[in-house]
Amino acid sequence: MSTVRVIAVVLPSPHDDSLLLTVQRPHDDEDLPGVWGLPATTVRPHESDADAAVRLGESKLGAPVSLGPLLAEGSQQRNGTELAMRLYAATMSSEEPALPSAPGEQGVTYYAAWRWAPRSSLRDGAERGSLCCALALQEHAGSVSAMDEHVLVRFYHEIALKGSNRSWFLKHMGANLRRALAGTGVGRIRWNAMMASFPLKDDDQWELVRERLEGVIGVERFSRAVRVEATLDAMKAAMPAMLEGQEPASFRIAARRSDKRFPMTSPEINHALGRHVQELTGWPVDLKHADLTLHVQMTEREALLSAESLSGPGGMPVGVGGHVAALLSGGIDSPVAAYQMMRRGCRVTFVHFHSFPLVEGTSREKAEELVELLTRYQFNSRLLLVPFAAAQQRIIVTVPPAYRVAVYRRFMVRIAEALAMRHGAAALVTGDSLGQVSSQTLENLTTIGAAAERLPLFRPLLTMDKGEIIDIARPLGTYPISIIPDQDCCSLFVPRHPVIKSRIQDVERMEAELPVQELVDEAVAAVEEREFRWPESAVRREQGNPVASR
Ligand code: ATP
Ligand code: MG
Repeated sequence: MSTVRVIAVVLPSPHDDSLLLTVQRPHDDEDLPGVWGLPATTVRPHESDADAAVRLGESKLGAPVSLGPLLAEGSQQRNGTELAMRLYAATMSSEEPALPSAPGEQGVTYYAAWRWAPRSSLRDGAERGSLCCALALQEHAGSVSAMDEHVLVRFYHEIALKGSNRSWFLKHMGANLRRALAGTGVGRIRWNAMMASFPLKDDDQWELVRERLEGVIGVERFSRAVRVEATLDAMKAAMPAMLEGQEPASFRIAARRSDKRFPMTSPEINHALGRHVQELTGWPVDLKHADLTLHVQMTEREALLSAESLSGPGGMPVGVGGHVAALLSGGIDSPVAAYQMMRRGCRVTFVHFHSFPLVEGTSREKAEELVELLTRYQFNSRLLLVPFAAAQQRIIVTVPPAYRVAVYRRFMVRIAEALAMRHGAAALVTGDSLGQVSSQTLENLTTIGAAAERLPLFRPLLTMDKGEIIDIARPLGTYPISIIPDQDCCSLFVPRHPVIKSRIQDVERMEAELPVQELVDEAVAAVEEREFRWPESAVRREQGNPVASR
């Protein structure tokens, strides 16, 4: 392939050095019509860069240009030739350019217009493939411009398996991501297969963005990344700034290509960049147990480079799995059960039963706190607080003590089912785990579950032991709330040893003496509703105002 040498110049405005001279290519230009970029020219055979700059100034800008230091170098393939460009700082002998009015030499690109503009105005040109624009952006701030700081988000691998439904899953993912990032001030989100990226406007945004992304279900991993042009040169140029301050015992490069048109394979990129980093730093490569992994994600027009990789919760984006109603006690298990359903894409409405004022209101407050915390995973929550004391007081009149817990639970299920149907939820969820306590023997689970007549009752924790449940509750943040002592409504008027193997026939006989539907209707009519929103509530709390939903 033949190589064409080109120089481009950065000419600061004599009145404001935050502005550069930018020029617009003609509208009938073959390569980049109408694009704003930097003045540039081909260097002729045997011509020096300095002579080319004088000629560039005189013929295209109306005044000679003299070169300062070399700022950056890079290359690009265009129409079968390689463009090898050097970008120089430069000065011009007049205050303003004077573009020639009539076209001069054949084959020379004359500009349609000029203006002083901030360096950021070159972004458009860089995105449309202009090499001088890309180099000028990279060169700024020591090869990595602050404006090129991005966040790269990778989605849960299962979403990729969804075939023709994948775009529907990604639509939910996108809506959730935008919602989670609301108010952080980050730039526009760009989508690329199973990833998204967006620019950070300044360094201070990162902490907040990280905090938000940690809770977005469907996000598998995410990282802060530097965006450069998709060329090996640009990636190499970005390395010193990426590696600054790092002292790893070993490193490796992990490249992935979502755009297979890039001329090098991932192993070739790993190899070439790895060698470059070794030359820069002398660090040893360790492919299996690297202390530092430098991730390279190649997309169509850019490479995203990151030196870290953080975990999100994974799972299916909330909204794709339907709507369920979770019975939320103040305990450890039920918040975890609700979260497990959210991780399968379900939106959860919460139902809490309390015996206030027969007992103190702690369980209600705990339920509110738990829902507030869990709302970060689904953005909007509704908590239904059901007064249960009236039903209990009626139940104890005829039901013998050993059967009370089972009957309480069956009423909870009936009331929750009625509420679920009223709110459009398609299933009930509890935190039961087989054999954990006497109300959770196979027989008792069957007796209790049989009270649900219209909706299925799911028990996502059925086979987990307490330790496994706590291992989820701790990082979720629900654990410390759950262990605050409270008075559970089901401990009211019950003996220490309730029936372990209840039979449905016996329980049904006892319930025949109760006005079942009436008690259900009364409880449903007395429900209090609370709404929770996130991240709005988080923002309000940071500002020191009380949470509005409380
Ligand atoms: P948890 O830790 O969730 O309270 P647990 O191991 O203490 O569970 P139980 O108290 O027997 O078990 O409750 C079993 C399930 O019944 C709970 O996970 C919850 O789904 C539901 N449940 C129990 N009490 C209430 C309540 N007061 N309000 C709503 N649901 C409840
Ligand atoms: Mg409990």
